[in-house]
Order: sequence, then structure tokens, then C-alpha cells
Amino acid sequence: MLNVVLFGPPGAGKGTQSEKLIEKFNLKHLSTGDILRAAIKNQTPLGLEAKKIIDKGNLVPDDVVIGLISRELDEHKDAQGFIFDGFPRTTVQAKELDTMLDSKGLHINLMMALEVEHQELIKRLLNRGLQSARPDDQNVEIIENRIKVYGEYTKVVADYYKAQGKFVSIHGMGTIDEIFERISKAITEHK
Ligand code: ADP
Repeated sequence: MLNVVLFGPPGAGKGTQSEKLIEKFNLKHLSTGDILRAAIKNQTPLGLEAKKIIDKGNLVPDDVVIGLISRELDEHKDAQGFIFDGFPRTTVQAKELDTMLDSKGLHINLMMALEVEHQELIKRLLNRGLQSARPDDQNVEIIENRIKVYGEYTKVVADYYKAQGKFVSIHGMGTIDEIFERISKAITEHK
């Protein structure tokens, strides 16, 4: 079992790299952003509540995303391992994830943080906004707020994994394939 957290600010490339990693390492991709967007699309009560928060670029409450992840873990008991993408985003979420995994006899092996320059993040997100219908990618102020929220609540999550000796920094600038090579190497070296 290989359980990894792919970490980094909005626009760092977590989703893109996850898609490649699930194939190479045969993992199940758990993206809270994707799960929340599916709930919005299906107009569930949770989705309707979440949409108001997400469109402003703020964080959905911890108990909501923890509940979503807990359900996914239960639904994929046969998985060979998980990639957590966009979760944990707060230290409360990180602690709760450890508790949930622990109760199943599992743990996080590695936390890989994609490091990308601020201007490059803005560029990538605005570009994604042109190609997708994500309202939170359409507006520079919302994007700046998401990066600010990352700095205020999420960045410290790295310290949680550093304290456990599980943190690896990954240079997140360059081509998709170059970055994928760096991530793959970090996983292979860990194994
Ligand atoms: P990005 O790749 O831009 O970081 P995501 O798709 O991961 O975006 O998430 C989109 C939005 O969904 C976030 O801005 C936030 O509002 C909400 N969200 C996703 N994951 C979490 C989480 N773990 N905790 C709180 N809110 C979350």
C-alpha cells in the first residue's frame, strides 16, 4: 500500500500530476475539489452550500471535507493505495486523516509539495479558466484570495508532515513530464 499526499498551492499542478501517477503506481485519486465539484454539478444540498464558499475562493468547513474523504476510504477498501489531492488543507484535516487511516491500519507514506512561483500560478489558473467552466478560475481577485487562503491555513500543513519525516519538496516549474519525473523519482526512492 502506498498512500501519498500531493501538496501545493492552487495551480501547482496537483490534478495534472495525479492523473499520471494513478496510472504509473496504480493508485486511487481522491481529490476533494473534484468530489465537491461533482456535488455542485448534481445540485445536492452539500453541493449547493459548498458552491457559495468555493466561488469566493474560501475553504469548505473541515467536517464537510473530512466526511467526504471518510466515505471514499470506506468505498475503496480494495485500493492499492491513495493519492490525496487538495486534502488535507488544514492541520485539523491532516490530523483527522491520520486518525481515519490509523483506524484502518493504514498511514501516509509521503507528502510531496509542488513548489511553483506566484506569477506562474496566476498564469496557469487564468489559462485554465479560459478552458474550463470553473468560476473560481475566471477572476484574478478570487485566484489571489485562494493563494492567500493557502498561505494562511494550508502552507503550515507541510510542517505537520515535516515533523513526521514524510515531507519532500518538488520543483514544480518546467514541463509536465519533467515534473512527473521528479515526483516519480521521489516515490521510487521512498519505496
Ligand atoms: P485548486 O487546484 O485550485 O487548489 P481544488 O480543486 O483543489 O482547487 O479545490 C477547489 C476549491 O474547493 C477550493 O478553493 C476550496 O474552496 C474547496 N476545497 C477543496 N478541497 C478542500 C479542503 N480539503 N478543505 C476545504 N476546502 C476545500
